[in-house]
Amino acid sequence: MRILNPERLDAFFATIATTWDLRLPILLPDASRAIGSFGDGPPALHGGAVLAKPTAAFFPHQGTIFTAADGVLLEPPSPPRPLFVLGFTPRDLDCLCFIDRFFADGWRDDIYFRTRQTAIIAGLSGFCGAGGSLIPPAGGNCDLELFWDHSAWLVIHYSDAGRDIAAELPDSATAAAEELFRQLSSSPPPEEGEAVLRRASELLRANRVPDAFWAEIGDRCIACTGCNLACPTCTCFGVQDWRSATRVERSRMWDSCQLDGFMREAGGHNPLGSEAERTRRRIYHKLAADPEKWGEISCFLCGRCDAACPTGIGIVAVARELVARFG
Ligand code: SF4
Ligand code: SF4
Repeated sequence: MRILNPERLDAFFATIATTWDLRLPILLPDASRAIGSFGDGPPALHGGAVLAKPTAAFFPHQGTIFTAADGVLLEPPSPPRPLFVLGFTPRDLDCLCFIDRFFADGWRDDIYFRTRQTAIIAGLSGFCGAGGSLIPPAGGNCDLELFWDHSAWLVIHYSDAGRDIAAELPDSATAAAEELFRQLSSSPPPEEGEAVLRRASELLRANRVPDAFWAEIGDRCIACTGCNLACPTCTCFGVQDWRSATRVERSRMWDSCQLDGFMREAGGHNPLGSEAERTRRRIYHKLAADPEKWGEISCFLCGRCDAACPTGIGIVAVARELVARFG
């Protein structure tokens, strides 16, 4: 385990940026934080999960599927420099593992894996959450992890690539710092939201939630799509062609199951024709359909949809209400 003192952080990032396209939490002019390119703003590692999903590095809001000119398919652009993405909380890393499985299933999604398979993933944890709160250690699921111990970053590697990067740092962590990390890794604080989601999942799968509940919750949705756009495990997209006289580019863009047109068919029929049905579908998909298909709930409590929803119907808020009433 290595140690990275705050005054050496910029030099460490500059070294990484010579090899990788480094993305990390940066401070924006409006004082919010986002995952951005190194050099686009001051690094801002403290403050917890950034609101925008870090998985967007591999599944961006808009991505080109192919381009053709004069009826001939053009070769895709040469692969970009490999990414080094820092800023995944442990819950974000769980989300990333889930969508890695999703995009590898059946027809492997080569657009996703073009950037994902060469990327270095770095987690962020320790006493760097909102207001200095503890983000429990990830303990894996990434190449390396930066853990803030109140005065410096401990750098823990989990892969060969992570080991080589950590080896750039000259100083080893103290025995006391290593012990703190081990203790927090072996006994992470309990997460109350997990029990709520599990119970809500059971109730949904047992068909114990009436339509009237979804009518009431759906009434509160203003279709702003913030929940889907923020969610690291939402993977739905629509396809759009951009044409000129000689050229066509097909791209995909994130879609939102809270929008009226999400499942509307060409003939006009809409299987999700009301906000109640769409809201039910958003929650049911993560808590009931995905456990059946993937063996796990596909919400990992990253907190983004509850933070983003202006009307208070993020997944944990809905699950709490559902359990309180039916459970
Ligand atoms: S908390 Fe919300 S945004 Fe985060 S993984 Fe769960 S459903 Fe997605
Ligand atoms: S964030 Fe809330 S209001 Fe906006 S689409 Fe999602 S559920 Fe509806």
